[in-house]
Amino acid sequence: MIRIAIDGPSGGGKSTLAKRIARETGIIYVDTGALYRTIGYFVRSRGIAKEEAAGAVSLLNEINIELAYEGGRQIVRLNGEDLGDKIREPEISMYASAVSAVPEVREFLLETQRKIARENSVVMDGRDIGTVILPDADVKIFLCASNEERARRRCEELKEKGIEASYEEVLADLNQRDKNDRERDVAPAVAAEDAIHLDNSGLDIDGTYEAAMKIIREKAGDKLPEAEKEEKTEKPKRVRKMSRFYRFMWHIFHGFFKLIYNTRTRGEPEPPADYGPMLVCSNHISATDPIVIGLTMKKHQACFMAKKELFRIPLFNLLIKSLGAYPVDRKVSDVGAVKHTIKILESGGWAAMFPQGTRHPGEDPRNTSLKSGAGMICARTGVDVLPVFIKTKGAKHRMFRRKYVIIGKPIKFEEFGYVHGESGEYARISKMIFDRVCELEDKWDSGYYDKK
Ligand code: C5P
Repeated sequence: MIRIAIDGPSGGGKSTLAKRIARETGIIYVDTGALYRTIGYFVRSRGIAKEEAAGAVSLLNEINIELAYEGGRQIVRLNGEDLGDKIREPEISMYASAVSAVPEVREFLLETQRKIARENSVVMDGRDIGTVILPDADVKIFLCASNEERARRRCEELKEKGIEASYEEVLADLNQRDKNDRERDVAPAVAAEDAIHLDNSGLDIDGTYEAAMKIIREKAGDKLPEAEKEEKTEKPKRVRKMSRFYRFMWHIFHGFFKLIYNTRTRGEPEPPADYGPMLVCSNHISATDPIVIGLTMKKHQACFMAKKELFRIPLFNLLIKSLGAYPVDRKVSDVGAVKHTIKILESGGWAAMFPQGTRHPGEDPRNTSLKSGAGMICARTGVDVLPVFIKTKGAKHRMFRRKYVIIGKPIKFEEFGYVHGESGEYARISKMIFDRVCELEDKWDSGYYDKK
């Protein structure tokens, strides 16, 4: 087990650095600021002014805070509710800073933070991690940068989250918060005596990460998880072979359905049979899409979820089952179906999904909403993704139109830059996947593929 403490003033890049360390080493990132923000949020929701933050004490017995990890993402639940990005608003930052000066609030959150570090290898960022929460941390880094640089970074961060704030306001906020944090009586935000100071004013993210890893390797290299010991060894490739039964059924149905559905395959060649696990993601225009995709793949059995009602249709159920379909109950969030998909991928198989969730025939796919399921499954399994676009052409009636299945190049999992523990990652990955799916249509429109 390794415990890494990263402290420092707001906007110094603590969370960016900590997330990167967590991602590269596979340990848990604990964002302790989120806990103070959650209490700040609760206090504000009770109509208490920031200046009256001491009033938070009387509310603590109404607050239940849980720190959990779902698919590697940190979730802070306030009385059972995951507040998501609601705690990231600039006003909540000031509330967080105000409540964090209240000794009872710090005491209230102490055990939650220590518990997670007792049970897991962690990289934890905050203000008092090295001094109070984990005084015995294996590595303590105090990260700082010039005020102007920090305000500039914070502005960009907020902008990315769609929150507008002027540079002057952000700088003033930072200065005020730093002052509060430094000068408060309890757990003031100062460096631990044995912390190593890292000023990253002139460094970019990679530079900051390298500098921090150098410190970590020197101080506690032996405690780093295997994955981070210099030499990275390739994971053995898992490959799930196509079953004989599937091959047999595929040959029976293939010609017949190719004719009925009038399909053509375009784009890149299908990845080789020993490629390893893959999540196939496509746009969704018709109930027959899974069949069309299944029949397009000659070397792989791309299993897919299908609504459970379909399994009641005689003969048709035989077809979809033999193509590797498994039922999903769409009225509830069907955890079993998600687990099944993960199991297929973990055993080296292929699974097909539609990031749009439901069918959107005839609509511009870029204007349709996306579900985060594809991103979640991808993040949890670390598999590559094969983008596919289904395009129709010809006859007026959908039934008789020719279908083109355009296969893209696999997206390597590393390309997603998945940050373990950061909120919104599943949705971001789903969006990235679907952008690559839509790019295939753009290429089609520009005449890149044979439209015959
Ligand atoms: O890190 P973040 O900006 O999300 O933290 C919000 C506020 O919570 C900080 O300004 C600081 O006042 C407080 N905080 C703290 N101790 C921590 C983490 C955050 O006092 N360990």
